[in-house]
Amino acid sequence: MSILAVSDLCKQYGPTTAVNGLSFQVGSHEILGLLGPNGAGKTTTINMILGVLEPTSGSITIGGCDLAKRRRQALGRTNFAAVYAPLPGNLTVAQNLRVFGMLYAVSHLRDRIETVLHDFDLLQFRDTKCGVLSSGEQARVALAKAMLNQPRLLLLDEPTASLDPSIAREIRATIRQFAERNGVGVLWTSHNMIEVAEVCHRVLFLSKGKVLLEGDPRTLPQENNHPTLEDLFVAVAREPLTIRPTDMSS
Ligand code: ADP
Repeated sequence: MSILAVSDLCKQYGPTTAVNGLSFQVGSHEILGLLGPNGAGKTTTINMILGVLEPTSGSITIGGCDLAKRRRQALGRTNFAAVYAPLPGNLTVAQNLRVFGMLYAVSHLRDRIETVLHDFDLLQFRDTKCGVLSSGEQARVALAKAMLNQPRLLLLDEPTASLDPSIAREIRATIRQFAERNGVGVLWTSHNMIEVAEVCHRVLFLSKGKVLLEGDPRTLPQENNHPTLEDLFVAVAREPLTIRPTDMSS
């Protein structure tokens, strides 16, 4: 069953077509990598799924609810984390979780906060101000915040950027475990192709607002005559016309 269905999505900024007839789905338990060079339309797509930007046309359905018609229900089980959106540094971990939990109208908030503090190994930082935590600890708090409303759809924009490789590996394992255990669908953007090959079940390569390629990150490079996912990424960025697009209609 798909948690997220994007259908023929378009976004026009004046003369610029940022997203151009994009269609894809994310299943429960699935981690889908959204890849592509700068300017391909990833951020615009994520912002439309989060309800921050209005599409020019097309539809977005989350957990069976049309975002344009049933916004509250569609976004109620969605959440987001990104390194460029840190939590307020002058609030403690517990205060941040409380504020966001109230914004999301989480029921039994006190218990839910204890659960995410435990799950993300943050109990000892409960009363520490977020601003003084290390970047790895802050990443764990951002993920704990993103799990507060028990999302069915999680949007992660470069969730491990700026983390050292050992912490990044831990965070990836935690997210994978969460998706598997709770049937969460994850849309993951990253420029780290080794990470993508390790964590994503499937990837989409965007180019000029469209899906150029779709497939398993472990086999897609060889299918397109490139030795690694990074080489394939470079080819998509520099010579998109040399790539034979995936047929998304089947
Ligand atoms: P990515 O996240 O893949 O780097 P974006 O979604 O940020 O790509 O951008 C896609 C295209 O839309 C780019 O050509 C970018 O310049 C353009 N764009 C993005 N935001 C705006 C905006 N607010 N106004 C005008 N053009 C924009």
